Amino acid sequence: MMGVTHALMGGLLGASSAVFTLEYFLAAVIAGYLGGLFPDLDLAFNHRQTLHFPVGYTVLSVAAVATAVFTAEKGLIILSYFILSAAVHSWIDILGGGLEEKPWEGTTDKGVYSHSLDRWFPPLQVIRYDGAPEDFLLTLGLGTALFPLLAGYPVAQKIVVASIAVGGLYSLVRKKLLDVRDFLLKAFNSLIDES
Ligand SMILES: [Zn+2]
Repeated sequence: MMGVTHALMGGLLGASSAVFTLEYFLAAVIAGYLGGLFPDLDLAFNHRQTLHFPVGYTVLSVAAVATAVFTAEKGLIILSYFILSAAVHSWIDILGGGLEEKPWEGTTDKGVYSHSLDRWFPPLQVIRYDGAPEDFLLTLGLGTALFPLLAGYPVAQKIVVASIAVGGLYSLVRKKLLDVRDFLLKAFNSLIDES
């Protein structure tokens, strides 16, 4: 699933804080949005391992939510949305494609890794791969649901629209990205050979 799909999902999770209070609504939406994005920052490292902790974040979010409810500490409540959203991201990746260069081929058993259990869960491929048409539809649906909830926060609404646009663009070029990378690598290598 795309980072923006996770981010919008997290944003909606944050928006659910309105059920309790509107006091820190926007902060909770932002925390949820960022928490949804956060695990995928490990793309540059061991993707789905370095910052993906399905069990770890779940345990941490239970502790954070319990402490937040007990202390009613505003900062902790907002932080809880961040951790909760990162936990949802880490689990829900299981519905997407596997950890492989061309996830639409579905040749790997590596979907979600749990550090505490030291094992991979296989990908279910309900969303076949990140940037698949169904992934974009999910982004669009989540964004459409979140947008009206952010009435009165025009900058946040613009971020939602921008997220949908990024998702749309990524979906359009997703399968061509590997060709572009190979083309650039070839060009780069031939430049080095010539010099
Ligand atoms: Zn992920």
